[in-house]
Amino acid sequence: LGGKISSALQQMTNATTVNQKVFDKCLNDIARALLQNDVQVEIVGDLQSNIKRIVNLDGRAEGHNKRKIIQQAVFSELCKMLDPGKPSFTPKKNEPSVVMFVGLQGSGKTTTCTKYAHYYQNKGWKPALVCADTFRAGAFDQLKQNATKANIPFYGSHTESDPVNVAVEGVETFKRENRNLIIIDTSGRHVQEKALFEEMLQLREATKPDLVIFVMDSSIGQAAFKQAQAFKQSVDVGAVIVTKMDGHAKGGGALSAVAATKSPVIFIGTGEHINEFEDFNVKPFVSRLLGIRDLSGFINQVKEVVQVDEQELMQKLLEQNFTMRIMYELFQKILEGSFNQVLSMLMPKEHENESQVKIRRYLTMMDSMTNEELGSTDLKLMKESRIMRIARGAGRQVSEVFEMFQEYKRLTISVSKMKKMVNTRHTDEFTS
Ligand code: GDP
Ligand code: MG
Repeated sequence: LGGKISSALQQMTNATTVNQKVFDKCLNDIARALLQNDVQVEIVGDLQSNIKRIVNLDGRAEGHNKRKIIQQAVFSELCKMLDPGKPSFTPKKNEPSVVMFVGLQGSGKTTTCTKYAHYYQNKGWKPALVCADTFRAGAFDQLKQNATKANIPFYGSHTESDPVNVAVEGVETFKRENRNLIIIDTSGRHVQEKALFEEMLQLREATKPDLVIFVMDSSIGQAAFKQAQAFKQSVDVGAVIVTKMDGHAKGGGALSAVAATKSPVIFIGTGEHINEFEDFNVKPFVSRLLGIRDLSGFINQVKEVVQVDEQELMQKLLEQNFTMRIMYELFQKILEGSFNQVLSMLMPKEHENESQVKIRRYLTMMDSMTNEELGSTDLKLMKESRIMRIARGAGRQVSEVFEMFQEYKRLTISVSKMKKMVNTRHTDEFTS
């Protein structure tokens, strides 16, 4: 898949002019690749229209380098689809959390429960595992074996047939023992599908988990959306873990699961071993989906595509008056390490460490400035009393405040140069 999408982008990058035809072809190629990767038809449609909207209807697209806007739109829209906008519950050390795992038989629940427990145990939590799968013979033994290997306390029964009883007893036992992360493994199969969801609902009502995690096998293809949705509807899923990413490495299912559950993917399983478990991060995942192995290589390959975060600030720089507040945002981005290309255009190449220290100092001083001061572009506003106040507030010398104003002046000039440059480039682009 990734290869196809990046080659679609590449073809567009190679085309001398990006007209509607080239753009449409690129979008169609991307759509086809996503469909082949089991991304749901509706999701692909949304992606296409979002990108079109951004590129065509947005007046800004005309003012910028159009190619870059398209590349950025593809990347950022894929990122958005994997980000439901709200983070999932995360366990706290100082209060006991109960986390319940749900998902179909074979999806990897029992394996993933242990991985999850092990992950938090390494970070200093005191996890415990409860086996509420009383349907499948051998389920408890499997959990017991995994838990023993990882040195994690477990609870279960060979004789009790009611999963709710086992779960409630397990949770109570571990709460008494001051375990702060109690994880419930459940069954994924039943005589009837309806009965499975009924059981999950009862388990949830009886144990009141802080988080329900839906575990999904990455290889289930187009079934992902429906499956995720069914679990969401019955037990209010709050997070997703996608397993077996080692075998198939398809991303389509993850997109569907996020769309269906409106919950984030929090981890991915990349093998059978307990350590084959990774934090899920949207940007690297999307890069991988686009066929780019590492992000830094990607930056070189299709320049500026990853600078999704920077787009907004870039627009401010290009379209608004350069206030101290915009300088503040710029400095923050620079410290995050995310505005390097713009930085190299704007600032003389100083020693990196030295400028980092300076930037931090400037930020502290700007924290002592009022809204009015930050929103102004006129340094005449900065009377002596104000300068004294800023220096005092930040615990700095008056001369250092002046130094910051000098930097501001320098940047104001650089930014206006950059504006000119971008406008000239834009003319080239659309007249050639
Ligand atoms: P459950 O029925 O949902 O509890 O699923 P299990 O935890 O028993 O896992 C089913 C099978 O998938 C087992 O053979 C696991 O070893 C395997 N499995 C689970 N997660 C992964 C993964 O991330 N990668 C691979 N390759 N295999 C996995
Ligand atoms: Mg199991």
